[in-house]
Amino acid sequence: MDYETIIGLEVHAQLLTRSKIFCVCSATFGGEPNTQTCPVCTGQPGSLPVLNVKAVEFALKMALACHCTISTFSLFARKNYFYPDLPKGYQISQYEYPLAKDGYVEIPVDGKHKRIGIIRIHMEEDAGKLIHEGSFESSTWSLVDFNRTGVPLIEIVSGPDIRSADEAGVYLRSLRDILRYLEICDGDMEKGSFRCDANVSIRPKGQSDFGTRTELKNMNSFRHVERALEHEIRRQVALVEAGEEVVQETRLWDEEQERTLSMRGKEEAHDYRYFPDPDLVPLDVSEAWVDDIRKTLPELPAEKRKRFVDQYGIPEYDAGILTTSRSLADYYEECVKLSGEPKMVSNWIMGDLLRELKKDDREIEQCPVLPKHLASMLKMIKDGVISGKIAKTVFEEIYLSGKAPEKIVQEKGLIQVTDMDEIQGVIRRILEENPKLVEDYKKGKEQLLGFFVGQVMKATRGKANPKLVNELLRKNLSKE
Ligand SMILES: [Zn+2]
Repeated sequence: MDYETIIGLEVHAQLLTRSKIFCVCSATFGGEPNTQTCPVCTGQPGSLPVLNVKAVEFALKMALACHCTISTFSLFARKNYFYPDLPKGYQISQYEYPLAKDGYVEIPVDGKHKRIGIIRIHMEEDAGKLIHEGSFESSTWSLVDFNRTGVPLIEIVSGPDIRSADEAGVYLRSLRDILRYLEICDGDMEKGSFRCDANVSIRPKGQSDFGTRTELKNMNSFRHVERALEHEIRRQVALVEAGEEVVQETRLWDEEQERTLSMRGKEEAHDYRYFPDPDLVPLDVSEAWVDDIRKTLPELPAEKRKRFVDQYGIPEYDAGILTTSRSLADYYEECVKLSGEPKMVSNWIMGDLLRELKKDDREIEQCPVLPKHLASMLKMIKDGVISGKIAKTVFEEIYLSGKAPEKIVQEKGLIQVTDMDEIQGVIRRILEENPKLVEDYKKGKEQLLGFFVGQVMKATRGKANPKLVNELLRKNLSKE
C-alpha cells in the first residue's frame, strides 16, 4: 500500500534582543553559567515581569514576513509544569490569544512554489539549560544554567502541510533565512537558538482522516531533522503494515544510534492548566505600530529569489542559493553590477567561491575575494586574456592573497597565449617529436587530436588559447 506522510513543525526561535523578555538581564549567549539572572527570571516571590517592547517588535516582524494576521489583542498565559530548568514552576507563553495567526511561507518544491500554512506565531520565554553528566539515560548528576531562562522566543507553528522529510528541511531553511534577513534570530540550530519539534503521522494515500501522530524532539541540526523524520516515517509504516497501531507519544531522536526512543505519552493542553498571567496586562498592538514595522521590513528571500530570476535571467535554482543570506545576495548583485555577467558570476559563486568558503568554515562576510576582483577576473576571461582553466588558478590565488587578478596574472606570467606564431612553433615541435602518432592520425585515428591538444597545452603550461590550438592543429595535420 502507498502511504502519505503528514508533517507539521513547531519551531522555536530565540530573539536577538539585548535583554530578556520580562527583565533587564542580558540575553546574550555564552556567559558564565548563572551570571545573567535576577529575581524575575529566577521566579522569586514578589518579583514582577515587565514586557520587553523590542521582543514584541521582533515577533511582529516575523509575523508580517509570514503573511500572518496580527492580533490587536493578545494575552500572556501561564503554562504550568514542573521541571528543574523552570524555576517558576510555569512558563509564560501565549495560549488562547496568540500574537499572530493564519499566515504562510512559500517554499520551492520540485520547481514550483508551495505554501506551507502558519497556524500561529506566539511569544514566550525560554527555560534554563540542563547539562547532564554523560548520556541522558545514565547520568548520575545534572547542572542547571539559568542564563537562558527568560530569553525571548517565538514559536512558529506550521499547518500539517509538509509531505516529506525533504520538504521539512526546505521549509526549515526557508524559515531560518527569513529570520536572518530580519536580523531577529541567528538561526543556529547547533547552539539551540533555532529549534524544531515535529509532529508526524502517516495515512493510506487517498484517505482524508489523519493517522495517529507522534512528536519528535531532540534534533539539533537540519540533517538530524531530516534523518529523524525519515526514520520515524519508516517506523510508522512498518507498524501499520504489521497490523499494529501507532501510539500517540513524544519520541527522542538518538543520532548516535539512529533511532527514535519513546520519551513519554504525549501531554494534552489541559495537562498544563493554562490561565492568563495576572502579572501581565493584555498586549495591545495598534495598527499604526504594525504599519511602522511593516515599513522597516527588508526585501525577503522569496521576493528576492523571484526578482533575481526576472532581472538577471538566472535559473530558479541559482537564485535560491544566492538568496540564502542577505549578504550573499548583496555580494552577488555587486559582482553583477561591476561585470555585467549575471550567469557567469552565479557559476563562480556557487562553484568555486562557496566551496572555498565552506572548506574554511567561513561566511560570505569573511570572503577574501572582493566583488571588484571577481568582476575584473571575469572580464579577463571574456577578453581572452586568460583561459577558463587558468582562471581557476587565478581565483585560488585571489582567495588566498586577496590580491587583484591583474597583479596575479602579471606576477605569475599567466596571460593566455593567443599569438599564432608562438603556438604554431610549439605545434610544429610536438608534431616533429611524434612522427609515428602523426602517421596514425592520418590513417584515421582521429581521437589522437586530443592527445596533441594536451601536449600543446602542457608545453604552454595551460596558457595557450584552446580554441586556437584546436584550429591550428587540424590545419597542420591536414597539411602534412
Ligand atoms: Zn532576569
